[in-house]
Amino acid sequence: MKAPRFAYARPASVAEALALLDKHQDDARVLAGGQSLVPMLNFRVAAPKVLVDINRIAGLGGIKVTKSHVRIGALTRHVELERSVDIAKHLPLVAAAMPYVAHPAIRNRGTFGGSCALADPAAELPACALALGATFVVAGKKGERRVAAEDFFKGLYATALKTGELLIAAEFPLPKPGDACAFGELARRHGDYAMVGLAVQASKRGFRAAFFGVGDRPELIEAEAADAVISKVGTALDPRADLHASAETKLHLAKVLAGRVLAQLA
Ligand SMILES: Cc1cc2nc3c(=O)[nH]c(=O)nc-3n(C[C@H](O)[C@H](O)[C@H](O)COP(=O)(O)OP(=O)(O)OC[C@H]3O[C@@H](n4cnc5c(N)ncnc54)[C@H](O)[C@@H]3O)c2cc1C
Repeated sequence: MKAPRFAYARPASVAEALALLDKHQDDARVLAGGQSLVPMLNFRVAAPKVLVDINRIAGLGGIKVTKSHVRIGALTRHVELERSVDIAKHLPLVAAAMPYVAHPAIRNRGTFGGSCALADPAAELPACALALGATFVVAGKKGERRVAAEDFFKGLYATALKTGELLIAAEFPLPKPGDACAFGELARRHGDYAMVGLAVQASKRGFRAAFFGVGDRPELIEAEAADAVISKVGTALDPRADLHASAETKLHLAKVLAGRVLAQLA
């Protein structure tokens, strides 16, 4: 099917994009990599009257390392994260997740911000943001605000972004020496969305284990020891049946995956 008719705007700055989003409110939709939005238009799952294409806004992309954090711009393509020396060095959890995000053609266009704003419950990057305690930077007509990853993912394809707001970036605290991470997922074919996935960051303070594909949003389990994470899986997760598997099978897979992924940290 073809997409429904829409008007197209290509702002050159964040201020211009925000003015357009404010003017058109729920009739507008941000266009980033288009890897999810364009299929949604073609399937007529979404029918915005105006597409606000942010691809030409300078400064929305890129990876910056400061003394306290790594800042990933919303327009940073998946492939840039996959190939970045800074991400490999400072955020190895994100580097480990990238080969699992879709297929190379999609990673060439898809963006970090698009993935987080879409909030697919089976997506890898939202889970990494949660495990790593990232903070999202959101801009609106009243200025910028910061939202912790714990508060950003609100439900199925739902985030803390309000109408008229734009996701600008996320800031990931720099891991401390001695921190470790592990990642794994179970999917029918490599590159498909996960049936069940897990991103774990371990530090002196304990384990932050973010499961994905098992609920309406990424689910965080915190514990002091790896065994404690595994023993919490049965009570902390409440997966729903989906196209792939029953709820019981998903919970079983989550336990199996937790054992495998946490064994990487032993
Ligand atoms: C066949 C296929 C397989 C895939 N497999 C996976 C997978 O395994 N794992 C995975 O994580 N993803 C997967 N994806 C999705 C892919 O990662 C997308 O790139 C991503 O979900 C959306 O990023 P995008 O930049 O293309 O966003 P778009 O499609 O442009 O936008 C997606 C949504 O986010 C909103 N949005 C985008 N940027 C912003 C912003 N800066 N501020 C506010 N709102 C914004 C848009 O309005 C839209 O609602 C797959 C896609 C396809 C087609």
